[in-house]
Order: sequence, then structure tokens, then C-alpha cells
Amino acid sequence: MRYIRAKNSQHAVSLMAGAVNPELFAGGTDVLVKMKLGGTPPDLLIDLKHIAGMREIRPEAGGIRVGAAVTGAEMGESAVLQALWPGVAEAVELIGSTQVQGRATMVGNLCNGSPAADSVPALLAAAATVRILGAKGERDLPVADVLEGPGKTTLNKSDIVTSIFLPARPERAGDAYLRFIPRTEMDIAVAGAAISLSLDEAGVVLAANVALGAVAPTAVLVPQAAKALIGSRLEAAALDACARACRDACAPIDDRRGTVEFRTKLAGVLATRAAKTAYIRAGGSL
Ligand SMILES: Cc1cc2nc3c(=O)[nH]c(=O)nc-3n(C[C@H](O)[C@H](O)[C@H](O)COP(=O)(O)OP(=O)(O)OC[C@H]3O[C@@H](n4cnc5c(N)ncnc54)[C@H](O)[C@@H]3O)c2cc1C
Repeated sequence: MRYIRAKNSQHAVSLMAGAVNPELFAGGTDVLVKMKLGGTPPDLLIDLKHIAGMREIRPEAGGIRVGAAVTGAEMGESAVLQALWPGVAEAVELIGSTQVQGRATMVGNLCNGSPAADSVPALLAAAATVRILGAKGERDLPVADVLEGPGKTTLNKSDIVTSIFLPARPERAGDAYLRFIPRTEMDIAVAGAAISLSLDEAGVVLAANVALGAVAPTAVLVPQAAKALIGSRLEAAALDACARACRDACAPIDDRRGTVEFRTKLAGVLATRAAKTAYIRAGGSL
């Protein structure tokens, strides 16, 4: 097995194209675990952490562009990210421990393809887009279009994600992410919910996105749950309808960490709690 530090994004794409079974290496917190578990090892590990620009968080068109190799710790320290998308920041900061945060990236979390990846529901709710460089050049895709199934993405063999763009947000907008884990930290979400919403001057929800994690083969947007919130001030009936739509969208696995019934119930509970936090962050009062 070879290890190469890519000099730039194009170099990484060429290396990917030329290898039989390459693996991109950002923080390595999923890659190294997979390698230790066995299976066919990669013939080439391509380290992205030394590519100039991939470690930057920079403002762009009112939003922010987060380089693919920015770590969770760097995101947690970003005042601009915390101000614009606190729900995305809190989702990323839930990943692992202080040690893991020093390595793990949001892009690695997305591209690893886990249905329980904490940052992905928050990215879906934020309507984030992914910039990809591949053999045919550069393209931008909504995060939802990258998700395929457990351990799978729609990326082609030589595609690399170079950054994630979090768009500008209107006045009176807020987002939030919540997950349930059986322990207090260092565990995988049994269910997760992210909400992004904006309000009018009277505190009525004008627009919303609701996304769930760990309750389906990929994280999912739930448009019916968003619809239930729009036009409301999060009255009980709206929250109940949102929770019901979330439960209806669930198709979870049944395992020792959570039954189908438990995960389904949790999805509704977490969505309503995250909605309340997002609402307050948007300036609403409950
Ligand atoms: C102790 C521990 C605790 C953890 N806790 C959590 C948790 O609470 N929540 C959670 O969601 N996850 C958790 N994880 C999983 C992991 O830390 C995260 O998924 C992390 O965000 C992965 O990022 P990374 O940079 O380390 O990815 P890597 O391991 O470097 O890569 C992961 C995958 O993404 C691909 N990839 C990486 N960068 C790119 C790119 N730029 N373009 C295309 N593909 C790319 C790689 O090829 C690989 O398949 C934990 C892991 C450990 C070891």
C-alpha cells in the first residue's frame, strides 16, 4: 500500500483515476477503523489534508464555503459558522471526542455514507451543496444527491469533494440538530433530527427544512414535516403534525441499540425539540 500527500485537488483526482482501489484520507477516523476491521486494503491512500485551500472556511455570497479537509475542531472555533449555521456546527461538534475532532472532517462524515452520520441531517436542513472535482471537471450537487445507501455515495471513482457550501440565510432564521445516543458521548446516533426555519416579523414560520438521520438507509429530508411547521408559530397541533410526518418517513433498522419502534418514536420527539430550538434561535418566543 502506498501513501501520497496530494499536492492539489487535480493531483488527487489523477491519483484516484490511476489507482485500482484508492481511498481518500482526510481525517482518517473512518478509513483507519475500516482498514483495521479487515477486508481488501486500499492500494493507495491519498492524503487531502495538505492541499492549500482545503483547510479554509471562507465567506462567499453571504454564505460560507468549508474546505473538505477542515476539521471538526476548526469548525467549532469558527465564529462565522457558529453565527450563520449553529445547527451544522453543533452536529459536527458531536462527532467523536476531542481527539477525533482534531482529525475528523464534515466531508469525511458525509462521504463515509453512514446513515447515522451526525452532520448529514444538518447539511440537508441547511440546503448545503457539495463541490466535486472529477475526471470531467467541477460540478456542484445538493447534499441529498450524494447520498445513496449505507456505506455508499453517488460519487464516481475519481471524484473528490473539494468543499461544502452553506448558503446565506434570511433574517430571523435558525437551525438546530439533536441526536439520541444510549451513552452521554462517543456513540452513534440511534436517531437524529435537524431543522432549519425562518420566521416573519410576527414569528410565523415562513420556510422550513426537516431532516432525519439513522432512521432510513440514508439521512432523509421530510417535506411533509416541514409543511406542517410552515404557517405556524409552533403551536402544539403543528408540532404534532411534524412529529407524525417524521414517524411516517422512518424505515429504520432494528438492532441492539434501538428497535424500529423506538427509533420511529424518537424521530418525532427529536424533530419537535429541534424545531423549538431552531425557532428560538430565529428570534421566536414560545
Ligand atoms: C472514536 C470515534 C467516534 C466517532 N464518533 C462519531 C459520531 O459521534 N458521529 C459520527 O457521525 N461519526 C462518528 N465517528 C466517525 C468519523 O469520525 C466521522 O464519520 C468523521 O467525520 C469522518 O471524517 P474523516 O475526515 O476522518 O474521514 P476519513 O476517514 O478520512 O474518510 C471517510 C470516508 O470519506 C471519504 N472521503 C474523505 N474525504 C473525502 C473527499 N474530500 N471527497 C470524497 N471522499 C472523501 C474517504 O474515502 C472515506 O471513504 C467516530 C469515529 C471514531 C473513530
